[in-house]
Amino acid sequence: MTEATGKTNLLGLTQPEMEQFFERIGEKRFRAGQVMKWIHHFGVDDFDAMSNLGKALRDKLKGCAEVRGPEIVSQDISTDGTRKWVVRVASGSCVETVYIPQGGRGTLCVSSQAGCALDCSFCSTGKQGFNSDLTAAEVIGQVWIANKSFGTVPAKIDRAITNVVMMGMGEPLLNFDNVVAAMTIMMDDLGYGISKRKVTLSTSGVAPMIDKLGQVIDVSLALSLHAPNDALRNKLVPINRKYPLAVVLDACKRYIGGLGEKRFLTIEYTLLKDVNDQPEHAAEMIALLADVPCKVNLIPFNPFPHSGYERPSNNAIRRFQDLLHKAGHNVTVRTTRGEDIDAACGQLVGQVLDRTRRSERYIAVRELSAETETPRSAANRT
Ligand code: SAH
Ligand code: SF4
Repeated sequence: MTEATGKTNLLGLTQPEMEQFFERIGEKRFRAGQVMKWIHHFGVDDFDAMSNLGKALRDKLKGCAEVRGPEIVSQDISTDGTRKWVVRVASGSCVETVYIPQGGRGTLCVSSQAGCALDCSFCSTGKQGFNSDLTAAEVIGQVWIANKSFGTVPAKIDRAITNVVMMGMGEPLLNFDNVVAAMTIMMDDLGYGISKRKVTLSTSGVAPMIDKLGQVIDVSLALSLHAPNDALRNKLVPINRKYPLAVVLDACKRYIGGLGEKRFLTIEYTLLKDVNDQPEHAAEMIALLADVPCKVNLIPFNPFPHSGYERPSNNAIRRFQDLLHKAGHNVTVRTTRGEDIDAACGQLVGQVLDRTRRSERYIAVRELSAETETPRSAANRT
C-alpha cells in the first residue's frame, strides 16, 4: 500500500501476490499475468492502456491500485555507454542505479537501501549512514525504469538488461523480504525473465541471512571479502566482528552447495593500496579459499573525497592477480566504467537523509585527522 495514496502499488507484487490481490478485489486470478506483462514487459503504468482488460475492471483498478515507480531525479549517459539514474524513494532519500553495457551483456546495478548501516571503511555509501529500506516496488522499480529507457520492446525480446547485480547502495540481506520479492520478479517470465545465474546478490557477510536466502530463492551469490584474515577484515568490514570469516565462508559454502548443481561463489576484493594488496595478503587468501568453489573479482579502489585510501598501481594490481591466478583461481579485475558520471563502484552517493548522522561525525573526524593520517593508518582506525 502506498501511504500517500492509500492504493496498492502493483509494481512490487510477485505473481502469487498479484493473484491474491485480484482475488481480494473479486476478480479472476489470471488477470495477474495480464497485468504483470503490461507493467514489466511493456513498462505501462496507466490502466487505460491495458487494452485486454475491460473498462469496468480498468476503472476498478484505478480506484484501488496504482503502478508507481520511484521518481527519477536525473539520468546521465557516460561516453562509454554506462547509464546512471538517481531516483527518489518514499523516505525522501535518493539512491542510484547504474547500467553497464559490455560486449553482448548489459548489467544493471541496483540499490537495496538508502544509505547503509554497516560502515565499511572504504565505502562512500557506508559513510553516509542509513536512512531507509527500499520497498519491493522501489527495488524492482529501478529495473522497470532502466528497461523502459531502452524503448517499449518487451523485456524478453532483444533485451538490453541481461544481468542484474544487487551491488548498488545498501546491504541487500538487511532488507531481505523486499529484495527477495524484487529478485523473484526479475527472474519470473511475467517479469524480466532473467536467468537465476544472472541475478547476483552481493553481501558483506550477514551469515544467518545467507542461510535464510538459500531456503527461499536460487540466485548467484557474491561475498565482499576485502581481507584474508579477521584482524584486517574487522577494520575494513565491521560486520566481520559479528560474523567472522570462518562463519561467513561456511554459510557461503552451504548456500552454494545447496543449489544442487555446479555453481561458484563470487569473491569481491576491493584492492586498497598498502592495506590489503601485498603478496602476503594474496598468499593468505589462497589458503583461505582453498576449499571454496569460487571466482575472484578484484575491484581497484574507487577514490572519493576524504576516504583516506588510495588505488594501488597497475603493477600492484597485476601482481596480486598473477599470484591468485598461479594458484589456480579464476580472477578478473573489474574495469572502472562510467567514471565521468560518478557511476563506479563505491562512488554511489545519492542524497541520503542520514538518520544515523554518521556523515557529520565522519566529516568531523576526517577534518581533525586530515593533517596527520596516512592511508595505511586510516585502515587501522575503525
Ligand atoms: N552491501 C553490499 C553490496 C553493495 S557494495 C556489499 O557490501 O557487498 C558493492 C561492492 O562494491 C562491494 O564489494 C563493496 O565492498 C565495493 N565497494 C564499496 N566501496 C568501494 C570503493 N570505494 N571502491 C571499490 N569498491 C567498493
Ligand atoms: Fe554497506 Fe556494502 Fe558499503 Fe559495506 S560496502 S557500507 S555493506 S554498501
